[in-house]
Amino acid sequence: MRVYNFSAGPAVLPEEVLKKAASEMTEYGGSGQSVMEMSHRSKEYEAVHDNCAALLREVMGIPDNYKVLFIQGGAHMQFEMVPLNLMVKGKADFVVTGQWAGKAHSEAKKYGTANLIASSKDKTFSYIPELDSASFDKDADFFHICENNTIFGTKFKSLPETGNVPLVSDMSSCILSEPVDVSKYGLIYACAQKNMGPSGVTIVIIREDLIRDLSDTKFPTMLQYKVYDDNNSLYNTPPTYSIYMCGLVLEWVKNNGGLAAMKVKNEKKAAILYDAIDNSKMFSNPVNKPDRSLMNVTFVTGNEDLDKKFIAGAKAAGLVNLGGHRSVGGMRASIYNAMPVEGVQALVDFMKKFEEENA
Ligand SMILES: *Cc1c(COP(=O)(O)O)cnc(C)c1O
Repeated sequence: MRVYNFSAGPAVLPEEVLKKAASEMTEYGGSGQSVMEMSHRSKEYEAVHDNCAALLREVMGIPDNYKVLFIQGGAHMQFEMVPLNLMVKGKADFVVTGQWAGKAHSEAKKYGTANLIASSKDKTFSYIPELDSASFDKDADFFHICENNTIFGTKFKSLPETGNVPLVSDMSSCILSEPVDVSKYGLIYACAQKNMGPSGVTIVIIREDLIRDLSDTKFPTMLQYKVYDDNNSLYNTPPTYSIYMCGLVLEWVKNNGGLAAMKVKNEKKAAILYDAIDNSKMFSNPVNKPDRSLMNVTFVTGNEDLDKKFIAGAKAAGLVNLGGHRSVGGMRASIYNAMPVEGVQALVDFMKKFEEENA
């Protein structure tokens, strides 16, 4: 029996997608082989690869002057690749709203000046700081945000006004959750294993003019965006099966109304869960209300033992992976696109029952 999986990532995938992958596992199309077994240089695989990129373009409405790249190394490698490739003048602005944003900021310090524009560390990253664009460096190479904070459950509801400075966004845990205007960004990156597919591939959407030619430098080949772009992300063997799975997820998103419909469903699920928390005497959500994430909902009872009892009881009831990130504790329900409304309803019902029994 399948459980309701609230993991932050790798996370739940649509059951239809898993079933389709299962049906194609041993023989894909007319190829007589699994996608896993295909040469990455074969015509069959290339169609899978190009289909995934084309679907991402279609679903996100990516303008023609942006490239879609498939890279390995997770979002973590983008903490390095972004400053390495984009720091021409050697300075960039950062907003630190959580652990991932903090890591991106720390890594960038190795390569240039990484200005800290604002941080919400003073209140355990429970809010998104107000930004004053007068404090931004007008001459920076880029401005970095982590748009949805997977660990603490906050989300930027409006984007910083960075003018001509390219906005770089870590969208790992919110990509495909709602429509976005890609033209507002210089670069978007997202590891797949939150809301797009299995782990193994990270998607980079980069404005063409930000792709630098670094070929006659000592710069590591595999860390140059241009190498991925010049080779259709096939310079070396890409994570072929992960890319195939992302293609199936994107097809599912498209067939289920696209990003506008995802947003409606995600708002509905989040409202059910936040309402239950707000109406409870036992559970509370530490996040500043306007900054609440639609994807990652954090909550606590205020008593660590009770939190543990809740997580164990929920697991026994088929509601799994509700423990908060190892650095913060408490509970976290990640309710990505693939989490059905019924899963959130089952969680809310369990919370009510738990509160009654443990009041
Ligand atoms: C999960 C996550 C990361 C880390 O991703 P890896 O693929 O493990 O490197 C970075 N940023 C955000 C916002 C995340 O949710």
